[in-house]
Amino acid sequence: MAERFTAVVIGAGHAGLAASHFLTSRSIDHVVLERGEVANSWRHERWDSLRLLTPNWLNRLPGQPYDGPDPDGYMGALEVVELVERFAKTSQAPVRTGARVTSLRRLADDYVLTVSGEELRARTVVIASGAHNRARVPALGASLPASVDQVTAFDYRNPEQLAEGGALVVGASATGLQLAAELQRSGRPVTLSVGEHTRLPRTYRGRDVLWWMDATGVWDQRYDEVDDLTRARNLPSPQLVGTRERTTLDLNTLTDAGVSLVGRWAAVRDGVALFSGGLRNVFSLADLKLQRLLDGYDEWAAERELAAGPPERFEPTRVPAPSRLDLDLTNGEVRTVVWATGYRPDYDWLDVPVVDEKGQLRHDGGVVSESPGLYALGLPVLRRRKSSFIHGIEDDAREVVDHLATYLDVP
Ligand SMILES: Cc1cc2nc3c(=O)[nH]c(=O)nc-3n(C[C@H](O)[C@H](O)[C@H](O)COP(=O)(O)OP(=O)(O)OC[C@H]3O[C@@H](n4cnc5c(N)ncnc54)[C@H](O)[C@@H]3O)c2cc1C
Repeated sequence: MAERFTAVVIGAGHAGLAASHFLTSRSIDHVVLERGEVANSWRHERWDSLRLLTPNWLNRLPGQPYDGPDPDGYMGALEVVELVERFAKTSQAPVRTGARVTSLRRLADDYVLTVSGEELRARTVVIASGAHNRARVPALGASLPASVDQVTAFDYRNPEQLAEGGALVVGASATGLQLAAELQRSGRPVTLSVGEHTRLPRTYRGRDVLWWMDATGVWDQRYDEVDDLTRARNLPSPQLVGTRERTTLDLNTLTDAGVSLVGRWAAVRDGVALFSGGLRNVFSLADLKLQRLLDGYDEWAAERELAAGPPERFEPTRVPAPSRLDLDLTNGEVRTVVWATGYRPDYDWLDVPVVDEKGQLRHDGGVVSESPGLYALGLPVLRRRKSSFIHGIEDDAREVVDHLATYLDVP
C-alpha cells in the first residue's frame, strides 16, 4: 500500500516550510519532500560572495521576525541557510530530506508521487520547488566559437573558476552587475551587455531603498490589481548589492571601475558578437522609471510629514562614447561569456499538463485551477509583488493554505 497524506509539499526552501507552517496550524497532516537538504538552493546554487539584497530586518518568516544583532546588514548564503533551518526547526516541519520527486500525476481525486522510487499518495500537493532551478541562456549561446568558455550565474562561484582573460557578462540585473563588478576587481577586463533594467540606489533619504518599497505598500500590490501581470512576473531584479557600507551598484559605478558597457546582445555573425545600439534610450527609460518611483516616495513622505533626509536625485546614467556595437569573439579579447540572463523553474518531473509553452506553471494566485487540489508557492508575483522574496511568503502561504483547506472542507 502506498503511503498516504492529506497534503504533500514539494521543496524545503522557505516557501515549502511556510506552507508546512500553515498546514500544521490547521492540523492538516502532511510531509515536506526535499531532494537535498533544507535550504538546498542556498547551500549549493549561489556564488561565494553573494549577500542578500534585502536587509536583515526585512527577512521575516511566519512567526520568525529578525531578532539578531545587525538589522541593517545583509546576510550571506550560509546565514540564509541558518535562517531557513531555524524556521524548519521552530515550526517542526515534517521534512524528508534526500526525497526527490521524479513524477507527480493525477489519479481520480488523488495525486500520485514517485519519490526516490517509492509511490506516495496525497489529496493535495503544494509545489514549492523554486522559481530558480535552472539558468536561462539565450539561443545565441549555441553559436559562440569553441575558444570562448561559457558559464552561467547558476554555476559561477568565484573569479578563480574562470580562465585568465576578458569576460563578457550578459545581463544587467542584480546578478549581472554583481558578477561584472567582482570580475573587474579580479583584474579581468569586463564588458557588460545591458538590456532593460531596473535602477535603484541602495539608500534613499537616509533609509534603505527597500524600506520605502515596504513602507509605501508597493510590494503589497496584489497580482489581480497589476495592469500587465505577465510583464510584472518577468521584470528584471533591481540593480542592488548588499554591503556593509550600503554602497550603490549601478552602471555609473561600473563605468567608473573600468567596465565597458554595450547594448543588448542581438546576434553572432562569423564569430563576432553584435550588440543593439540605442543605449541612450535604454538608460533614459531606466532613469525615468527611477525618477517616477522616487517622486512617489516623496509624495508619500510629504503626506505623512515623515522625518527623513531631503529628496535626492541621481546623476543620469552615462552613455559610453562611442558606443561599441560589436566584439570579435575569435581574437582572444573575450575568454569567457558569463550568462546572467535569468533563471527558470524546472518541472520535468510534473506529469500534470499545467505547464505552458514557456515552461511556466499556469495558476491563478497559486491555485492551479485546471487540476483541483494542486497549488504553488514562491513564484514571482504569485499573489503579490513581494511573492518571491523571503518576507513575501507569509501572506501568500496563509492564503494558499486557506484555499487548500476550503477545498478539503477543513474548518
Ligand atoms: C541569486 C539569487 C538571489 C536572491 N536574493 C534574494 C534576496 O536578497 N532577498 C530575498 O528575499 N529573496 C532573494 N532571492 C529570491 C528567493 O528568496 C530565493 O530564490 C529562494 O531560494 C526561494 O525560495 P523557495 O523556497 O521558493 O525556493 P528554493 O529555495 O529554491 O527551494 C526549493 C526547494 O525545492 C527542492 N526541490 C526542487 N525540485 C524538487 C523535486 N523534484 N523533489 C524534491 N525537492 C525538490 C530544492 O532542492 C529546493 O530546496 C534570490 C534568489 C536568487 C536566485
